[in-house]
Amino acid sequence: MIEHVFVGEGSSSDAGDGDPGAGAGDAGGFGSPGFTGTALSGEFVAVGRRLVGVDPRALSDDERLGVLDDLERAQRALDATRMGVLVAVDSASTTDTRFGHRTANWVAARHGGPVGDVKRALRDARTLALHYPELDAAVRRGELSGVRAGVVCRLTSDRNVDGLAAAQDEILKLSAATSSFQRYANDIAALADHADADGSEPPAPAASRLSMSRTGDEVHLRGVLTGELGVEVEQFLGRCADTLFRQRRVEETFCPELAVPGRDQLQAEALGELIRRGHTADTSRTRAPVVGINLTVTDADPATPWDTTTIWGAPRRIFSQRGVHVSRHGVDCLVCDPVVHPVRFNARGVPVAVGRERRFADDDQRRAAAIRDGGCVFPGCDAPPTWTDLHHVIHWHHDGPTELWNLASLCRRHHGVVHRDGWSMTTGDDQWFHITTPTGLQLDSQRHGRQRPPAPA
Ligand SMILES: [Zn+2]
Ligand SMILES: [Zn+2]
Repeated sequence: MIEHVFVGEGSSSDAGDGDPGAGAGDAGGFGSPGFTGTALSGEFVAVGRRLVGVDPRALSDDERLGVLDDLERAQRALDATRMGVLVAVDSASTTDTRFGHRTANWVAARHGGPVGDVKRALRDARTLALHYPELDAAVRRGELSGVRAGVVCRLTSDRNVDGLAAAQDEILKLSAATSSFQRYANDIAALADHADADGSEPPAPAASRLSMSRTGDEVHLRGVLTGELGVEVEQFLGRCADTLFRQRRVEETFCPELAVPGRDQLQAEALGELIRRGHTADTSRTRAPVVGINLTVTDADPATPWDTTTIWGAPRRIFSQRGVHVSRHGVDCLVCDPVVHPVRFNARGVPVAVGRERRFADDDQRRAAAIRDGGCVFPGCDAPPTWTDLHHVIHWHHDGPTELWNLASLCRRHHGVVHRDGWSMTTGDDQWFHITTPTGLQLDSQRHGRQRPPAPA
């Protein structure tokens, strides 16, 4: 054996082209040392190579489509096999003992693939084996693809694992009934959110990030926006792009050579437009932008009158207007004072009524709050009333009423702050608010930018 001639040995800079035998590899492997699989896996490789040799142009239409189906079946079998073998290799610490490498790093380097993919496959395989025996079995039978099982694994947390494990049957039915992967992923996300026991510690939201770099004439933006920031940017950018689209359509009718640009270009122009507008905004005249959400109410008895009590009291699910399920933990601040578009479904999932769009607080309440608070109530903030949301001090999904004593004017920034973990807010008898910070600091709210006067002696 010549095990010492191996990946990573003597060189730690094997990232990227970690295939030490590249170019020198024989039919049997990826450099030295060569390992021999089982007779069965060898046979699989041989059959695969014979298949590559078949000219697809020589096949009939039906045969070609059938081959695609067969390849998917083979791929699922391969994925399931790979997961099992990876877990076994990892559990035995084989690569660590023999080569001083973690399983994923060793496999990635040996095969020249991205290490993240191997890590994910390993993690998913462990999660499946540990928590989801029925999904695991379905993956082995080829009924559920590894990619779809991975969606469940990646959404699994300590908080929702019991609920998701109890829903394995439902997940399999959902997968069988849903051909669109995106829709399936959205539904699983909704299920994971639903399984997340209410009231326990919310998971730390992933941080948003955005990087900017320049190449010659081009600025490249690359980033991820999570939680409420993502929902907001999606809606406002989308809305602005829609407006630009309508303008361009009109323009086009007058001047046909001004063709309407594609969506990507419109969104880029919308981004510039919003930044310019924001930069020149007159805070004394602008209303704070409002996010719309769809509130889906499932109702066994569509004959009952549809008043606000049934809307807020009924089991409900919240979706952004693009149909993405909104996790309450990520966007508490948005669902605190949104424009709500209620849609009522019957027990069979048929939409039976669409309610008028409405906000929780009515105009009179907003006016009263503006007169009482005179802008953001967070001490030291100078945001005017028109830039504030009405925060439900006791959240409406905890049955906090939309009454003046329970509504505090907060600008978007401070609204986000009081929704953070560890922050809390209460109302006194005199409708001054008290804010407690995570370190226990007590803050009194302000009115019209002024601190609360000392209590009479
Ligand atoms: Zn709020
Ligand atoms: Zn503020």
